[in-house]
Amino acid sequence: MKISDKLTVEVMWKATVTCDVRYDGEFFYAVITTGIFCRPSCKSKTPQLKNIRFFKYTREAMREGFRPCKRCRPDLYVKHYDPSQEIVEDVKTILENRYYETIQLKRLAQDVGLSPFYLNRLFKEKTGFTPRQYLEKVRISKAVLLLKTTDLSSTEICFQIGYGNLSSFYKAFKNMTGCSPGQYRVN
Ligand SMILES: [Zn+2]
Repeated sequence: MKISDKLTVEVMWKATVTCDVRYDGEFFYAVITTGIFCRPSCKSKTPQLKNIRFFKYTREAMREGFRPCKRCRPDLYVKHYDPSQEIVEDVKTILENRYYETIQLKRLAQDVGLSPFYLNRLFKEKTGFTPRQYLEKVRISKAVLLLKTTDLSSTEICFQIGYGNLSSFYKAFKNMTGCSPGQYRVN
């Protein structure tokens, strides 16, 4: 019952229990016993997991006969305009497009008109990662792709995806995948 790789049942359940507003719009939960569906952030009483069904879109929940909650109005859900969210999206785009460059937080913050401290905090609040961690994620997913689809050596990949030295590449790779690039390739 998972909607995407990120949104496992565990993740959605935790977001539901903690009324985590960051997941609003990512999924909705419907309660079988009441026939009502809610946004993750809804403050209504948390149902039991066994009585919950998760949906990506409101129309799916409605098609199955669930009614929108009167309290959190998931049927009216539109991502409200949030300028700080726009900034976070901009930063994500920069990191995704320029991951192979040397990216400094200070420069990144300058580009979007924030202080490095505030950018770090905002980005973490919105995504759960610091810009640095997000960059590592992007780089390591590129590394994984290159390992699987090319004959490039680990060293070549390391420099191609923007690492300045092998040891930080190996460390980040191991952190994220649990193994070394070499082990990853043969598996
Ligand atoms: Zn609700």
